[in-house]
Amino acid sequence: MSTNRDYYEILGVPRTASKEEIKKAYRRLARKYHPDVSQEPDAEAKFKEVNEAYQVLSDDEKRSMYDRFGHAGLGGAGATGFDGFGFGFRDPFEIFEEVFGSFGGFGGRARRHARSPRRGADLRYEMTLEFEEAIFGVEKEIEIPRQETCPTCTGSGVEPGTSPIRCPECNGTGEIRRQSGFFINIGTCPRCQGRGEIITTPCKECHGRGQVVRTRRLAVKVPPGVDNGTQIRLTGEGESGLNGGPPGNLYVVIRVKPHPYFRRQDDTIHLELAINITQAALGDEVEVPTLDGKVMMTIPAGTQTGDTIRLKGHGAPRLRRDGSTAGRGDQVVTIQVRTPTNLTPYQRDLLLELGKTLDREVVPQKEKSFFDRIREALGV
Ligand SMILES: [Zn+2]
Ligand SMILES: [Zn+2]
Repeated sequence: MSTNRDYYEILGVPRTASKEEIKKAYRRLARKYHPDVSQEPDAEAKFKEVNEAYQVLSDDEKRSMYDRFGHAGLGGAGATGFDGFGFGFRDPFEIFEEVFGSFGGFGGRARRHARSPRRGADLRYEMTLEFEEAIFGVEKEIEIPRQETCPTCTGSGVEPGTSPIRCPECNGTGEIRRQSGFFINIGTCPRCQGRGEIITTPCKECHGRGQVVRTRRLAVKVPPGVDNGTQIRLTGEGESGLNGGPPGNLYVVIRVKPHPYFRRQDDTIHLELAINITQAALGDEVEVPTLDGKVMMTIPAGTQTGDTIRLKGHGAPRLRRDGSTAGRGDQVVTIQVRTPTNLTPYQRDLLLELGKTLDREVVPQKEKSFFDRIREALGV
């Protein structure tokens, strides 16, 4: 849904543009790219882009977030890796009808009455977790600014103690009929945007918008086994709906920090372990780190570089779609045999003695098979 292009550039206005200039630019471009009339091949995408730019730049709060932080300040798809919040974008056709009224539109593609309930926008929040937090789950508090129903006017936009007047243009119906040839065209009243009434004294708290931005603290329970890109849906924690519509959802998107030596691949945890040549040749019992602390592991005699040893049940929990878990994966330890360096004279003598007993013939190795390489790439 989101663009990465500069919003001012999309609308072709300077950064100092007034609200009027922004609206004028929007009106021109939205008409040009409206998919119902435009012949341009990517009209729909352009139309959405223009609408997105307008939604941000026509809203003082969103515009100032954008001016300060760019796309990252708004979250959304253009802001991956940013630990922040996102404003959801509204339906471009809805915005179009709001600005133009139905007459400016080209048919009733998305005609909606301004008083009809609208669902609040979805929000997106990127949460960065430590490696272990993603494995074992965690509860975190987040702060999320969102549009909520104004408590002073309960969303009406009308200053308490005053009342709106009936719209003189449409006589309170919210609709205007126009005859054109044989047809009667019914459109949303441009004066009241279909509300049927005009607010003469807007609510001071929300300036007549019916919504205010509030920062909420929310406790998010992250289940064990989440991974990069996992989304947690918090139903109804998005922005408030308009005209009694339901609220949107909040999507918490997980980012996991890398670990200094564990690497995760789904429910398998990989660890590379360096051992010396005698451990490799004679075998050994060693302690290795796992997610559950140190465990003893047997290195069999004759272990080669690249050999793997599996520690059952020490992998990541298998997360189900419903947030529960079904057992755990394994830890796979990949062995690296380290050739000793900086030998003392004594060690050198010992190795010379050993060398006399070993076969000195050099043997060309068969090239690795296709499947060996695939297995290596997958780390299995
Ligand atoms: Zn209010
Ligand atoms: Zn009206």
